Amino acid sequence: MRIGSIINGKERNENDRHTMEVKSPYNQETIIELALAKKEDLDDGVNNSYHTFHSTMKRMAAHERGDILRKTANRMEENIEEFAKTIMDESGKPIRFSREEVKRSIQVLRFASELAKHITGEIIPMDAAVGGENKIGLVKREPLGVVGAITPFNFPLNLSLHKIAPAIAAGNTVVFKPAEKTPLSAYKLVQLFQEAGLPDGALNLLIGTGEETGEPLVSHENVHKITFTGSLPVGRKIRESAGFKKVTLELGSNSPNILFEDTDVEQTVTALVKGAFAFSGQVCISAQRIYVQRNIYERFLEEYVKQTEDLKLGNPAKEETDIGPMINEEEAERAKLWIDDAVEKGAVIQTGGKQYGTMLTPTIMTNVESNMKIIAEEVFAPIASVIPFDTEEEVIASANDSIYGLQAGVFTKDIDRAIRVANQLEIGGVWINEISTYRQDNHPYGGVKQSGIGKEGVKYALEDMTEIKFIGVKLKQ
Ligand code: NAD
Repeated sequence: MRIGSIINGKERNENDRHTMEVKSPYNQETIIELALAKKEDLDDGVNNSYHTFHSTMKRMAAHERGDILRKTANRMEENIEEFAKTIMDESGKPIRFSREEVKRSIQVLRFASELAKHITGEIIPMDAAVGGENKIGLVKREPLGVVGAITPFNFPLNLSLHKIAPAIAAGNTVVFKPAEKTPLSAYKLVQLFQEAGLPDGALNLLIGTGEETGEPLVSHENVHKITFTGSLPVGRKIRESAGFKKVTLELGSNSPNILFEDTDVEQTVTALVKGAFAFSGQVCISAQRIYVQRNIYERFLEEYVKQTEDLKLGNPAKEETDIGPMINEEEAERAKLWIDDAVEKGAVIQTGGKQYGTMLTPTIMTNVESNMKIIAEEVFAPIASVIPFDTEEEVIASANDSIYGLQAGVFTKDIDRAIRVANQLEIGGVWINEISTYRQDNHPYGGVKQSGIGKEGVKYALEDMTEIKFIGVKLKQ
């Protein structure tokens, strides 16, 4: 089977396009062939999206936009298994976790459907300034126009919807460029929107690589906003070439989790096993750095190693599988090299550290230093480091010693300490008594420092996908 871009409701997968294969990360079998977008497809996609915005979406009533999103959610709910299997096939995400992603995606659609009907403005008290006595000031929110959405492989459905659903709710059109590693979830999603009644051209899909399709999308003059989730180097490039467009960047992290001595060790270990190793650590808020106060360190480490060794590795299609493959062999090899680099510098492997093909066994490291890649950079692999600490000041300084700042977890029964630490962390979101990896789809989500710019979480993304317009009225005396 071959799939191509979808522009104005029609698929473009004729033979004259370059092709690329998507292979299963688990067994390397070809899942699908891609007909890559040509330059003219990109121009057509953006220009058609631009015209559809002015002719249709900008004029569509809020209740209609809400209905389309609700119907899309309902259809997805009828097809949870199909979407979960697609995510599992193309990304290697174990089926239980793929199903979780689909369920969260349905929630994103429902949040957006509700919010579509609650986009409000305000009235300015114009008489607050001398001379404004007989004037009225209205502030309203308008859609931006064409939103370019570029997404990564690791949550191919949920993260795409965190862009598409609020954009549609606000009355924009979208040109969607999904990760070339996981395009099938995106293709099925666009079809679902079509079936739910989204007008042709309101969501155009471009199948292509980052360089050939992503880059020209970012610099296209008819695109009004770029919303990107992906790696820091690509985010940096996008920031440089986006010019005057609005930009949201959801980038990487090396998330810290801080366990004070009054933490419930057993419960927290279980949560952190999932938090560090789910989807082989290929989660932007994966628990990468685990700081444990010294008098519970040994107990934590022993239990953490034990529970990690109980994880079931293997075929992502099996219900019992906890850990499947990484996205490709190069990524698994890269992660293994980072482990070797740390060991050379004095780190110790407590468990794991073995790579075969796309599989990397869940790895716990100790004796780590801040100059090791597994600490300083985003590891994006099933590797967690456990680090002892003594004082609150020391652990805050260590946690903040990072170019990233996306999400953190702080564990303590002392609420004063919890809030004090949360206030001092240079991080976009802090969970208290919950792991850094937990995300709900309606809270503000987005990093500081080099973790990104702007927030998602449906309401917050929606605000960023609108522009404030002021309308002033001078009344006749
Ligand atoms: P990636 O940056 O390699 O690719 C992401 C997308 O960008 C893909 O669609 C790719 O084709 C496109 N792209 C690549 N080069 C481009 C260019 N020059 N111009 C425009 N687009 C381009 O990321 P990935 O490997 O798919 O995903 C992993 C990364 O995503 C990790 O760094 C992870 O932390 C990050 N991520 C962040 C969040 C978050 O919410 N902050 C969530 C998930 C993943």
